[in-house]
Amino acid sequence: MTMQSTLTQTAPLQANNKKSFKPHKMHAAVVEQFGKPLTLQERDVPTPGPGQILVKTEACGVCHTDLHAANGDWPVKPTLPFIPGHEAIGRVVGIGAGVTIVKEGDRVGVPWLYSACGHCEYCLSAWETVCPEAQFGGYTKNGGFAEYLLADPNYVAHIPAGLTPQEAAPLVCAGITTYKGIKETKAKPGQWLAISGVGGLGHLAVQYAKAMGLLVCGIDIDDGKLAHAKRLGADLIFNAKAGDPAASLKKETGGGAHGVLITAPSLIAFKQGVGMTRKLGTCVLVGLPPGEFPVPLFDVVANCITVRGSFVGTREDMAEALAFAAAGKVKADIELQPLSAINQVFDRLAHGDVPSRVVLDFSQRGN
Ligand code: NAD
Ligand code: ZN
Ligand code: ZN
Repeated sequence: MTMQSTLTQTAPLQANNKKSFKPHKMHAAVVEQFGKPLTLQERDVPTPGPGQILVKTEACGVCHTDLHAANGDWPVKPTLPFIPGHEAIGRVVGIGAGVTIVKEGDRVGVPWLYSACGHCEYCLSAWETVCPEAQFGGYTKNGGFAEYLLADPNYVAHIPAGLTPQEAAPLVCAGITTYKGIKETKAKPGQWLAISGVGGLGHLAVQYAKAMGLLVCGIDIDDGKLAHAKRLGADLIFNAKAGDPAASLKKETGGGAHGVLITAPSLIAFKQGVGMTRKLGTCVLVGLPPGEFPVPLFDVVANCITVRGSFVGTREDMAEALAFAAAGKVKADIELQPLSAINQVFDRLAHGDVPSRVVLDFSQRGN
């Protein structure tokens, strides 16, 4: 290979790097120890390697999963130290060698499903969410609680024009997860969907379900969140602290909900959710509190109830979930905070004190 052809091949990357001049350092919120406050650090801005892109974060939602991650709640733990955040939205500012499917300036979302292998039996059947080689944003890969992050261009979300980065952020986890979970209940228009937990995930679930023509019952332990669910279109609401929500729901709906979506990070909600399910109905488990819950075997068997898990969503689900928002049918209710407020936000999330979704806004001072 001549010197000339070498130069020609590397020229586009160099030109890109020059065009998108960026600082060498960035602010990031880092989990150094499980269960301890995150530390705000100055870190090197990562460099995109072959097949990677660099994204300059504009906004990143704070999901209850980030709290589970920082607490080391689950059997498979992230390697310390790590940067959480899997509802990141930003502009592509750096392109690694060989990347052709996104370009500088594109607005993308970097979701929980950071990447997958693309060739296993699950990837080939469009179930990349359960790929054994999947990587997870803000968990096995550094996430969006930082001014810059790397991403795999094959798995980023493409944010429709018309959505701001702040309003798009919750959609790339809370939105896609609830949209997919509702689909997995197989509930049909006109049938009942019970949504247990109407917080970050649940307030979007109510909107997706209404847009999909379902009758919605919201269940929570917080009257403020229930009132909000009602404003968003819930047909029925129950406070699970005020009595057995399964019995009340069965009475009001004449036999229970055709589909149940459990987003509550609380084990008791899972037992109650199975109890809310109508004969032949499907109860979809989405919330991820650590632990196990008892399944009433006789009821599940004799009523032919399906109990199944649902894990975020595929790239196809992502495009569909974003399209609902682009069409104005779903809108995340957001509270903006700077990155520097992350520990207070986690504290409030742990105590149920976040009304819907906090989004870290990187355009604010104090980051
Ligand atoms: P959140 O804290 O914003 O909302 C949780 C809601 O559940 C709150 O409104 C709270 O009041 C309510 N709640 C608590 N206990 C309850 C009970 N006993 N009955 C009814 N409601 C109750 O959290 P979030 O960001 O919506 O996340 C919820 C859960 O979903 C977390 O465990 C998170 O890890 C999980 N999650 C799973 C997936 C997935 O792919 N399966 C994706 C994202 C989040
Ligand atoms: Zn999430
Ligand atoms: Zn795979």
